[in-house]
Amino acid sequence: MMQLQVLLVAGTHGNEINGIWLFDEWNKSSLLINTHGIKTFKVIGNPEAKKAGKRYIHNDLNRSFQKELFLSINSSNFERSRASELVNLYGEKGENPCQIALDFHTTTASMGSCLVVYGRREADLALASLIQNQLGLPIYLHEADQKQTGFLVESWPCGLVVEIGPVGQGLLNSRIISQTKLILEALMEQIHQVKNLNLFFPDKLIIHRHIKSIDFPRDKEGNIDGYVHSLRQSKDWQKLNKKDELFCKLNGEIIRFEEDESYIPVFINEAAYVEKNIAMSFTKRELWNLKKEWKQSLIELVHQK
Ligand SMILES: [Zn+2]
Repeated sequence: MMQLQVLLVAGTHGNEINGIWLFDEWNKSSLLINTHGIKTFKVIGNPEAKKAGKRYIHNDLNRSFQKELFLSINSSNFERSRASELVNLYGEKGENPCQIALDFHTTTASMGSCLVVYGRREADLALASLIQNQLGLPIYLHEADQKQTGFLVESWPCGLVVEIGPVGQGLLNSRIISQTKLILEALMEQIHQVKNLNLFFPDKLIIHRHIKSIDFPRDKEGNIDGYVHSLRQSKDWQKLNKKDELFCKLNGEIIRFEEDESYIPVFINEAAYVEKNIAMSFTKRELWNLKKEWKQSLIELVHQK
């Protein structure tokens, strides 16, 4: 039977450096992090971009894990080669096979800490529910977005993204570093409990299901001509109702939310998403029943059945 191994990734975006700092401290043994005896591999997702102080060199690494791209490795594209390298080194069938990948990010949005799951994979939802139950973190379910695919964790049988904010790109922040440590330890503890079958799943979990993203207001040439309204700025996770303010334009015009259904906005004014034409994303808050199959899926994965 193969041993359970967990891949820990920081710096998938080279200018999100708090997780990298934590790993460096940990490597120097000046910091104790309890992994409960579970074998982990710590990697910097995008070391080249880290050196350059940028999010990425050629392409967003966290959109580069497309199965079809692995077949045609374009060595002139750093992120595409790095994605296939990481899968070859730590993928399920790699040199150091890992069954779970935990990918630590930061955001410039005022979102606090949250977990991101991609699609509705059973083991992901089970692990996320354990962490939500323990730490109360919101879960953002990213799905059905054709423009955004190829996320790192999707290349592992189970994987979560941890997003912590707000912090500027390229800045260290003590609170962000300690939050990263706390969530990493909670994840390792819960995985350990699954291993020992000594686990307590909640009956329900709260999901923020991705609906869509919206762009900034733009002029005829396509230039941004408005900013996030003061009443919307830093109001991540707070309900948006019809006629609520969204943007202010140069001419003083206020753009309001005009839909009948109310949404919960997230990633409001995230610096990294300007280039993706995303001013914020809308989610719906839903209460889901935890399914037996999810638990089973996570238990089987951890026990390598
Ligand atoms: Zn990131």
